[in-house]
Amino acid sequence: MEKLKHNDCLNCSPIDAAKGICRITNEIVNIDSDVCNRLELVPKCKNCEHFQETKEDNLGICTGLEKDDWTFGDLNATTCKGHKFK
Ligand code: SF4
Repeated sequence: MEKLKHNDCLNCSPIDAAKGICRITNEIVNIDSDVCNRLELVPKCKNCEHFQETKEDNLGICTGLEKDDWTFGDLNATTCKGHKFK
């Protein structure tokens, strides 16, 4: 799996595409900086067992819903009924 970012963590509240606020420390974090050991993983397609990654960057196929279809790894799956952590 690729390196985790702060936007992979449930404790990060996004401000914009580059920054967020950590709900634990109340500090501003750069989305791309290293995450800490208190990361709580956001459900996303890329960490779902139904996601079949393709060779294209971040693109894949969802096999967990009624019909297989294209999706992308960074799609937030918080409300997806088919999401299962790998
Ligand atoms: S079941 Fe949901 S979370 Fe899993 S790959 Fe399909 S759309 Fe993404």
